[in-house]
Amino acid sequence: MGFSDISSKNSPKREYPLERTRNIGIAAHIDAGKTTTTERILYYTGVVHKIGEVHEGTAVTDWMAQERERGITITSAAISCAWETKDGPFNGHEHRINIIDTPGHVDFTAEVERSLRVLDGAVAVFCAVGGVQPQSETVWRQADKYSVPRIAFINKMDRTGADFFAVIEEMRDKLGANAHALFLPIGAEEDFVGLIDLVSMKAIYFDESDELGVKFDVKDIPAELREQAGAHRETLIEAISDFDDVVAEKYLSGEELKEDELKIALRKATTSIQFIGVIPGSAFKNKGVQSLLDAVVNYLPSPLDLPPMVGHNSKEEDVELGPDDSGKFAGLAFKLWTDPFVGKLVFFRVYSGKLEKGTQVYNPRSRKMERVSRLLIMKADARDDIDVAYSGDICAMIGVKNVKTGDTLCEKSLDVALEPPTFPEPVISMSIEPNTTADQEKMSLALSRLSDEDPTFQVSSNEETGQTLIAGMGELHLEIIRDRLFREFKVQARAGKPEIAYRETISKSARGEGKFVRQSGGKGQYGHAVIEIEPNKQGAGVEVVSEIVGGAIPKEFIKPTMDGIYEAAKNGVVAAYPVIDFKVRIVDGSFHDVDSSEMAFKMAGIFALRDAMKNAGPILLEPIMSVEVTTPEDYQGEVMGDLNRRRGRIQNMETKTNACIISSMVPLEAMFGYATDVRSLSKGRANYSMEPSNFEEVPTSLLESITQTTYREPVRT
Ligand code: GDP
Repeated sequence: MGFSDISSKNSPKREYPLERTRNIGIAAHIDAGKTTTTERILYYTGVVHKIGEVHEGTAVTDWMAQERERGITITSAAISCAWETKDGPFNGHEHRINIIDTPGHVDFTAEVERSLRVLDGAVAVFCAVGGVQPQSETVWRQADKYSVPRIAFINKMDRTGADFFAVIEEMRDKLGANAHALFLPIGAEEDFVGLIDLVSMKAIYFDESDELGVKFDVKDIPAELREQAGAHRETLIEAISDFDDVVAEKYLSGEELKEDELKIALRKATTSIQFIGVIPGSAFKNKGVQSLLDAVVNYLPSPLDLPPMVGHNSKEEDVELGPDDSGKFAGLAFKLWTDPFVGKLVFFRVYSGKLEKGTQVYNPRSRKMERVSRLLIMKADARDDIDVAYSGDICAMIGVKNVKTGDTLCEKSLDVALEPPTFPEPVISMSIEPNTTADQEKMSLALSRLSDEDPTFQVSSNEETGQTLIAGMGELHLEIIRDRLFREFKVQARAGKPEIAYRETISKSARGEGKFVRQSGGKGQYGHAVIEIEPNKQGAGVEVVSEIVGGAIPKEFIKPTMDGIYEAAKNGVVAAYPVIDFKVRIVDGSFHDVDSSEMAFKMAGIFALRDAMKNAGPILLEPIMSVEVTTPEDYQGEVMGDLNRRRGRIQNMETKTNACIISSMVPLEAMFGYATDVRSLSKGRANYSMEPSNFEEVPTSLLESITQTTYREPVRT
């Protein structure tokens, strides 16, 4: 996509042509300044007229009351704003920037992944003092996985100890990023007074008399910094010459490069994901944010710059969905939100075609059509009703009820499913009950709504005891759910002890048969199914296919048979935990003209799976956490010994200016109480982060104690 084609090829009714749309996320380690940076962006883009400080709890992106209290951002709300670059090929053109909030806490990695899927580019915020912290690495790797082009903002340049170049070095070392400065800081810490733009070779001085930092002066680069600036510009040009022939040629022949030529090459380099442009700033002191916004517009891709999204139709064929308003509509619901004023909002990204309000959309998962009654663009301080959502847009719809996070919504004839993001299995569960029994129904309703919003949060209930179980990605995750129950749904609930969410799977293929026959007088029952099961890869969940040919099981009874199999998979044969990562093929069966019913085949499905599982080498799985401990070298031995005692496997060890970073894999079962233990072990000096990694077989030596102490009644959802 060149710069020349600024006018829109698309419908003249579009407010912003696709070329001038940027869908971005802001990703950061907690405390690096994501909220403050987002705040300032909204301020500079004119959406917010008064700067709300984080510590006053008025930041607009922090929608949820508890986020304000905790000071972390856990929802992925999308906010739209507009920015006009003052220079460059896009000069004078207003761009729409949609900011999709990405959560910063490890317990919410699934939310991060989900929001990364709908982004075209991201701003990674690092702290100029803290540098690349463990969680920034996690988010970075996720952005790599989803091929998200990035620019980096090194924030907090005003803080004591700020070191712009050290953070760039760290990005190269730890993240393997081909990171290069786009701007150099003039001064640091208290004396951070401006930036040198390595593209225009001008110095930008912040106007200190302007408290809001809107004004700045552009001057010549001061003599003492000219050499340094020249050297950095040289390496920058060298780094991007690989991506652009014009720049390569001129660079080699020593010819001067025009600003626009450099910008085009920088854009190509950034979009290729092989290059990261870095900008220093201080969001808090209103420094550098305007340059960051210019870079977002100049270098991060528009939906047109990226390859089309690929979905699958019901025949399992690939369907390319390019950003074209005249194509058939397809979009991805990436966030559900209950708004106190307008009710249930579904945030979605349009991949192709356009969607008009008042029309129907098709959901391939539920096979239902639903009417979209309103379309909204969310701004920091307002919700704007719109009539049409165009390709590349990110907005919210109202009216559709039966939608879950990750669902595709499309035109019926397209019948396409965009591959949903892979969501990890929950690792922790607890029982929950309302303080007053009158609230039971309200609680169930609220929990089911919350699990629609958040695929990593699951609810199940035990029919016999009436107990409700909730499961999620960590204790904090479940604690926040309980908090939301109270705040948003006014249900006070007590939770039981957190328990490990064990899973079961099979280790070999087997055949099984299920028969449900009652034929003694009156209307009988007859259902019969034969299945074959085999292990499947991690994350595959439960996959059931029918290979029935010739009507051994009549068509109308296939789905009930499958339902029975899914039902039985909720309780494995080892210790009644859900069974995952296996594939079932329904291969044979029989029926009776009069006595066969849906119910009989459902029972046959249940019996068939239980039968097959017994012969398939069933095993119990436990969640394994990826744990990273940062400790002073003095305590390295103790920390490692302790991890070993916890059945941990050390993966890597790295020493960094007298701190040691130990990466390991440890079963979650052995991590309870770790926060306290690691603190006392290291006299409070070590800290750690952990996140779910995978599931592994429970060692035989522990199997008995686990199945005995955690024996559960069979659970039905
Ligand atoms: P988040 O957790 O990444 O969203 O970070 P916040 O935006 O909430 O910032 C964390 C803390 O750092 C807050 O107390 C901010 O006021 C402070 N902060 C953010 N940006 C800057 C900055 O540029 N300089 C300084 N000195 N502090 C900052």
